[in-house]
Amino acid sequence: MPVTLDPARLADPALRPIADKVLATRRLDADDARALYATHDLLGLGMLADFANDRKNGDRVFFSANQHINPTNVCILRNTCVFCSFARMPKEEGNYTRSLEEVFAEAEAARNSPTREFHIVGGLHPKLRLSYYTDMIRGLKERHPHVHIKALTAVEIAHLARIEKCTIREVLVAMKEAGLTSLPGGGAEVFSTAVRATIAERKLTGEEWLAVHREAHQLGIPTNCTMLYGHVETADDRIEHLAALRGLQDETGGFLTYIPLAYHPDNNELGEDLGRVGSATTAYEDLKNIAIGRLFLDNIPHVKTHWPMVTPFLSQVALSFGCDDVEGTVVFERIYHDAGAKTDLGMHYLDLVNLIRGARKRPVERNSLYEVVRDSFDDLAAGVELAGAGAPSVHAA
Ligand code: SF4
Repeated sequence: MPVTLDPARLADPALRPIADKVLATRRLDADDARALYATHDLLGLGMLADFANDRKNGDRVFFSANQHINPTNVCILRNTCVFCSFARMPKEEGNYTRSLEEVFAEAEAARNSPTREFHIVGGLHPKLRLSYYTDMIRGLKERHPHVHIKALTAVEIAHLARIEKCTIREVLVAMKEAGLTSLPGGGAEVFSTAVRATIAERKLTGEEWLAVHREAHQLGIPTNCTMLYGHVETADDRIEHLAALRGLQDETGGFLTYIPLAYHPDNNELGEDLGRVGSATTAYEDLKNIAIGRLFLDNIPHVKTHWPMVTPFLSQVALSFGCDDVEGTVVFERIYHDAGAKTDLGMHYLDLVNLIRGARKRPVERNSLYEVVRDSFDDLAAGVELAGAGAPSVHAA
């Protein structure tokens, strides 16, 4: 049954003209987004976003059987990305860098499992060359040909171009030739220059981040996009950020999904400075950002909830606040757990299916390109062996 929307039922009158626009499929502007951020009618906001999502995706909720791999936590920006809990300097305690053989050994968890995607991100290592990553992608494709590879944020791509003294395009072409499927959306944080000066002084600028994604889209490499919220940014900073993502999507159509990422304040300098250690974003704030993302980014097909950050419980609620996509099985999450996330390191395939079904939505397993891998799960029961689940009958979503 399609979700319906009755503007008269919205408690906050400021939401009613926005509801009229949503009903008429008219684009929201910055003032609308300001009203959405200002409203205390969280359920009304959720109704709008649920309607907008249902019109795009129906009751389908996508998930992937994926495995996160983080080849190194060594990062030359460790001392200037003050919100990051993951990075280490080359000789700092806790630093690690995997050899290719170690990466391949970790990826063996994908054998005889439903895994369809490797999600590979890490630090900006001063010595790892482009060939390390292209050999990694090639080696993973040889060993797991049916697994898509979503690898390296725009920040890592730009870093490799600097190390190799070549263009962004050359790095992307080399990675695509090695077997890359898509790019993840990390490193965007919030594009505002003032915010970046506070939280990530030496990181790629917003324009540079967008330029890497533009280049990828032009090469036929789809990407994801993100926004890190809940630190020092204002509502206007968020709106400018979303407007920049929407602008690039108008130009290229290359973004697959938008993922709002909640800032976690543990074990990083920013959390200490803000006096926020142990106090992550609230569920109210998380749901608001998800819903506003769905409403404002009218041209991005999917909005994903990242359960390792906001908990599986809130992710389930988010499926009625505009999300049609849930982070996958993950297997071993490091980055947000270093920042204090208390969730499990991974989620069992069947638990994901049940999380979606529990929200009265229809689970659809997808690959990195949002092609349907599996959309019938009736034969699955608790404890069932999932080896080879969803064996390769991939069709377009
Ligand atoms: S956020 Fe990324 S670029 Fe910044 S220190 Fe952490 S790993 Fe390095």
